[in-house]
Amino acid sequence: MRYVSTRGKAPVLNFEGAMLSGLARDGGLYLPETIPALGGLNELDGLAYDEVAFRVIRPFTGDSFSDADLRGAIARAYARIEHAAKAPLRQLAPGHHLMELFHGPTLAFKDFAMQLIAQLFEIALKRSGQRITIVGATSGDTGSAAIEAFKGIDNVDVFIMFPHGRVSEVQRRQMTTPTAENVHALAVTGHFDDCQARLKDLFNDHAFRDRVGLAGVNSINWARVVAQIVYYVTATASLGMRETDFTVPTGNFGDIFAGSVARAMGLPIRRLIVATNQNDILHRALTTGEYRVGTVEPSISPSMDIQVSSNFERALYLAYGGDAPAVAQLMDELREGGFVISQGALQSLRDQYLSGRVSEDETLAMIRTIRAETGEVLCPHSAVGVAVARRHVEPGVPMVTLATAHPAKFPDAVEAAIGIRPALPPHMATLFDLPERMTRVENDVAALKSLILERRTQ
Ligand SMILES: *Cc1c(COP(=O)(O)O)cnc(C)c1O
Repeated sequence: MRYVSTRGKAPVLNFEGAMLSGLARDGGLYLPETIPALGGLNELDGLAYDEVAFRVIRPFTGDSFSDADLRGAIARAYARIEHAAKAPLRQLAPGHHLMELFHGPTLAFKDFAMQLIAQLFEIALKRSGQRITIVGATSGDTGSAAIEAFKGIDNVDVFIMFPHGRVSEVQRRQMTTPTAENVHALAVTGHFDDCQARLKDLFNDHAFRDRVGLAGVNSINWARVVAQIVYYVTATASLGMRETDFTVPTGNFGDIFAGSVARAMGLPIRRLIVATNQNDILHRALTTGEYRVGTVEPSISPSMDIQVSSNFERALYLAYGGDAPAVAQLMDELREGGFVISQGALQSLRDQYLSGRVSEDETLAMIRTIRAETGEVLCPHSAVGVAVARRHVEPGVPMVTLATAHPAKFPDAVEAAIGIRPALPPHMATLFDLPERMTRVENDVAALKSLILERRTQ
């Protein structure tokens, strides 16, 4: 399997190369040259999650990992998801199901991808003897998932930038309480988009990139997208492998893009519905055809508080029929504030994606409604998803809304909605007693570079 950049000017890589580099050297994102078909769709229902994961992921990894190594990595990764089904469906209403993706160690869906890629990184680095430095930007959940997955893994240092004061206390503590020497939480002055921009600066400095062996595990990393395809498959299999709609609380467009890859592999997914909070660049882009960056307005669903949605570049690349120079041109225009999507590409995007936006008040109201109707307590991100999904449920086509985090990860929002602070699961009971360790840093690439050079354990 060969991987190419959305901007067409980076070396073609295999799966391992694309995974270890994260962002392509031309600033683009890696995609497989062709998307493989998934055979045996009707034989998947009732299989263990690990087995489905192996069948879905195997065609993408090519000769990068042996079958035994891949199966081992999957088993170790998903042993830490504390539910027998791993991504269980729970019915909310006739025809509407919630897919719970929050039974992993940091209580958000990002554990599914991060736990797996930590295992794959370890295998690859042991084999090559290479040492790397992972730098990530997070609005909260990626960072905690990365620190939890990579702590203590050999040959890797992990630096996670998060916007100071803009992540929930549970998210912050999940990043600042692990004691492993190879993980570093950096509180950056600014927003998530600042963190993401500094991350791109680091990657685009090729001398620095080579000096520290820079690798990325943000949702732009293709290996993460691949891991997220699996639960679209298990959900559709559980519902009888018939036409199904999915609604996805969306920020960086990684999770929902995995759904579109699942569809390209042959899964009978009808509509993929983008659910955004008040930071609605994706909803505006799909509605008006203009992708224009606004300012981030902090919300009660902070993991979706972004304006530049990195993985959307992959969807654009496909919508433009693989025209890398056209994508590179759009990304140049984005630096000046935005671009207009061509009519053809917009039509192609609208054939695949619907979208909706949910206000803060509607989000709180939906947490209350679902609690009253079902007893289920939603996190604010999942509530954004459920609110959009309810506008689109149609008889005869099951709707699955992805529940992207556990409500206990966002207790303030939940309390504001229903007056109850959801309890942390038992394995996290000590989180509020442990000492925290973090470094404050300015929104400045030179400061970040010297910090990374100084703190690396290698
Ligand atoms: C990361 C995250 C999202 C957004 O996912 P993307 O892949 O960035 O679109 C939604 N909800 C929660 C809880 C998250 O952590």
